[in-house]
Amino acid sequence: MKIGILGAGQLAQMLAQAGLKLGHEFMFLCPDPDSCAAPYGELLCADYHDEAALATLRDWADVITYEFENVPNEVAQALEAGNTLYPPSMMLGITSDRITEKNWVRDQGIGTANFAEVRSFEDLVEGAKTVGLPAILKTSQSGYDGKGQVRVSSAEHLASAWEAVGQQVCVLEGMVPFNREVSMIAARSPSGDIAYLPLSENAHTDGILHVAESKQNDPVEAKAQQMIKALLDASNYVGVLTVEFFDVDGELLVNELAPRVHNSGHWSIEACEDSQFSLHIKAIAGESIRSPKLISRAAMVNVIGQVPQGLEAFASDDTFVHLYGKAPRSKRKIGHVTVLESTDASTFNERLAQLVKAIEWA
Ligand code: AMP
Repeated sequence: MKIGILGAGQLAQMLAQAGLKLGHEFMFLCPDPDSCAAPYGELLCADYHDEAALATLRDWADVITYEFENVPNEVAQALEAGNTLYPPSMMLGITSDRITEKNWVRDQGIGTANFAEVRSFEDLVEGAKTVGLPAILKTSQSGYDGKGQVRVSSAEHLASAWEAVGQQVCVLEGMVPFNREVSMIAARSPSGDIAYLPLSENAHTDGILHVAESKQNDPVEAKAQQMIKALLDASNYVGVLTVEFFDVDGELLVNELAPRVHNSGHWSIEACEDSQFSLHIKAIAGESIRSPKLISRAAMVNVIGQVPQGLEAFASDDTFVHLYGKAPRSKRKIGHVTVLESTDASTFNERLAQLVKAIEWA
């Protein structure tokens, strides 16, 4: 099948790596001439609004997908009108705005952190009273990896927080006293079949995912599956959806949705019968999908900013170094390393600790 992808970063790269093995071809639309997915297909290097490039993509592709949720609404709708776009544009409309997303999740009967909609400084002052402080002020649009977020510890900080987010429409979220963060990644096919990845437990540093670890038979897995199924079915979704949760004493609150493959599922490349990438490709291509077995417990460490010296020497039968071929830049995701538990738990834990120590973030 001919698969078009909006965006040509590392997620598109890993989608194409999985899809090429399944016999598909790829075309990417991305304004960056140095896109790291380019070697895996044809790159249309153009703005997302470029009419000629959009027409080329629409005419060439059998199905179109995307690797990021900030696809301009009008672009998604235009592609959907002339071709098949999966996941449906309706989900982009929901997930590209935190206010819309949180309200929609709640409408499905699923909990989120307490939040207030903030459209003015007066809203912020009122919101601080209803939500309580400390809280986090997040821009409603265009935030990711902790960007566009400010912690507000007391009422005196409200004015500076409002300045710091550029006086944009925001949500003020109560601090959730979570025990841990987890994510559930699942794919839904056009006929409504759903395949679930094992749960991932995620640790963040400065709002950026640091370590993600597979969990087998986790106590909250069934609950997370039930919730993601409700969201997938309600949106008549096709492809992979990721839901990030706060686990508060076994109760799950949705933090964020991503209508795409996700950094917390990268360990599935080596640890599962089917990775999140091949599940997404199979789902959007209308092939049958089923929940993949976890072949081995696994953990992934992100490589941020620059490649540490000697990192490639870690590669072995149970350690997989992925470098995306992106230029180094502060806080940029440029690779990840996955370690599998192929022998025993103590060797795995030791290896993981060594990796976390060796991979200093820039
Ligand atoms: P986000 O970009 O909204 O996923 O936030 C990035 C990270 O900040 C999350 O993964 C959490 O570690 C932390 N965080 C965000 N929102 C909250 C919250 N309401 N309560 C506690 N921690 C939060």
